[in-house]
Amino acid sequence: MPTQLRIAIVGAGPGGLTLARILACHGVTVRVFERERGPLERPQGGTLDLHAESGQLALQHAGLEHAFQRIARYEDQGSRLMDQHGHLLFEDPNPAAADRPEVDRTALRQILLDALPEGCVNWGVGIHAIRPADGARWTLHQDARTHGPFDLVVGADGAWSKVRPLLSPYQPQYSGLTFIEFSIEDVDRRHPRIARLVGRGKLEVAGDARAIIVQRNANAHLRGYAIFRVPIDWAAIPRELSSLKAQFKGWHPDILALFEAANPQVVARPIHALPVGHRWSHRPGLTLIGDAAHLMSPFGGEGVNAAMLDAVELAQHLLQTPDGSAAVQAYETHMFERVLPAAQGSAEGAAIQLSHDSLALSLAHLHQHLAPQ
Ligand SMILES: Cc1cc2nc3c(=O)[nH]c(=O)nc-3n(C[C@H](O)[C@H](O)[C@H](O)COP(=O)(O)OP(=O)(O)OC[C@H]3O[C@@H](n4cnc5c(N)ncnc54)[C@H](O)[C@@H]3O)c2cc1C
Repeated sequence: MPTQLRIAIVGAGPGGLTLARILACHGVTVRVFERERGPLERPQGGTLDLHAESGQLALQHAGLEHAFQRIARYEDQGSRLMDQHGHLLFEDPNPAAADRPEVDRTALRQILLDALPEGCVNWGVGIHAIRPADGARWTLHQDARTHGPFDLVVGADGAWSKVRPLLSPYQPQYSGLTFIEFSIEDVDRRHPRIARLVGRGKLEVAGDARAIIVQRNANAHLRGYAIFRVPIDWAAIPRELSSLKAQFKGWHPDILALFEAANPQVVARPIHALPVGHRWSHRPGLTLIGDAAHLMSPFGGEGVNAAMLDAVELAQHLLQTPDGSAAVQAYETHMFERVLPAAQGSAEGAAIQLSHDSLALSLAHLHQHLAPQ
């Protein structure tokens, strides 16, 4: 690794923290800048499945496989598909055989944070601009404060990255789909019927140009998404839980019971994506990982896995190549190709959602990927 390279990572999500940790394991100190004021400022969201060849591999490179085993939920890998009348169309026959354990996002972030050197993450630092300094170096700007200069700024700052505009003119585009997120607490004790309906993993119910996905998280918590194809401004209007039930009129009472059991607060999440094949010309001292580089719709469950694999590959190139700019360029060239199939799959997943034959297509997908051959 170029010995004097000063590296800043913008964003303490799974991508940025994995990169910081792997570099720290090799004695390289980086500074991470995160706009949230601390790890508990906001709930980090739902459950993620970490794939063996990417998310789990990254945790091995980070020396965190044992910590991961303590939070991984192999028992929650199930998958069910139902129609709106409550007919079970598919159930994964052998979920325990899969190697895509679920992990709560907050728990994943915590094992990464616990493994970083004290002071590595600078909390409460929302970067609003990145500007050229002397030579090929860059400074980070947070209101009136300046940080740096740095030889390399890694944008790990997610969908609305402040680093990306320095590399690419593209902005994420609305997919046409909005998720209304709801949650159900203490499901085993308070709502055993719903717990049985969802099972140990994920339940998808589709039909009539509507869909609901419910996932089991740790601590008997369910997180669900009611999915609509609507204009982007629809998401700006505050939604109430009671209005959700009306949208699913005529669906089986067991499914509507989800809305009765849910907490009153719901959150609208319009789903955006960068174009499939998004790329940029190399610019010394800057790069992107994770959603900042290749935001995808969540269909396919690849986003966090791709972000963590980006971190592994960027770290490896930086550690092995004496020229920092050549290292970053090698990472970018390979990453652009590697993420293509996942981005394509996610885009296709979003395109077929809520279409007239989405149920048949989802069923075919599950048979192809989960049923025994
Ligand atoms: C509803 C939903 C469900 C999903 N389910 C899955 C799934 O099952 N499996 C899967 O693999 N993926 C899933 N994803 C995608 C996954 O969440 C992302 O791909 C993943 O979080 C990307 O990680 P990241 O580190 O690149 O970015 P992020 O997780 O977005 O982290 C970015 C960090 O940067 C910080 N930040 C942003 N701007 C600034 C700034 N200007 N200055 C400082 N800090 C900043 C943010 O606060 C955040 O902490 C889902 C996404 C959604 C929306």
